[in-house]
Amino acid sequence: MRIGVVAVQGSVEEHIQALHRTGWKELDVHTILHPERAREMDGLILPGGESTAIARLLKGTGLFQTLKDLGQDGKVIMGTCAGCVLLASRLRPEKDEEKTSLLRLMDMTVSRNAFGRQSQSFETEMEIEDVGAFHGVFIRAPAIIDMGEGCRAMAMIGKEVVMAEQQNLLALSFHPELTDDPSIHRYFLEKVQATL
Ligand code: GLN
Repeated sequence: MRIGVVAVQGSVEEHIQALHRTGWKELDVHTILHPERAREMDGLILPGGESTAIARLLKGTGLFQTLKDLGQDGKVIMGTCAGCVLLASRLRPEKDEEKTSLLRLMDMTVSRNAFGRQSQSFETEMEIEDVGAFHGVFIRAPAIIDMGEGCRAMAMIGKEVVMAEQQNLLALSFHPELTDDPSIHRYFLEKVQATL
């Protein structure tokens, strides 16, 4: 199985390590900087970083439109943190949409830096549907504040949705690549496998 980690910015190496920690057999992991390479992958990860910068860099490489096309065609894409922001269709406050181009692949509204300044970064135990208990690492994390019917909430912190799934797409407001637990990456790989 060929998995690509979009490598324009952010926690790329950590995602590569996390994919290997799953122990999945016959796994080829590639860093992705070009549209042609992205198209050869069975599944893609869009890491965290800074969403405005990532969107700009994706546009510069032509990957922005390619990711949009692939996501619409059913390719499995997992976006974490800034990647979750980019998968959204709407941002609140709305003026944030002026700064950051969105892929608009998932029917959800995201609030950037939703957990406030004082607790910009925190870690917490949580329960994820179909994955189980997980130690979540949140770094200036967004929250999914509203979702359409096709979108399913998989994890919550209080009233905020922090992980959601819509068909082939997965959005996480936290950083699963920064823990030793490979269960979310395994869930992603199983999802990719199901499309092959
Ligand atoms: N707050 C950042 C943004 O909105 C995301 C932070 C992260 O990816 N750790 O771009």
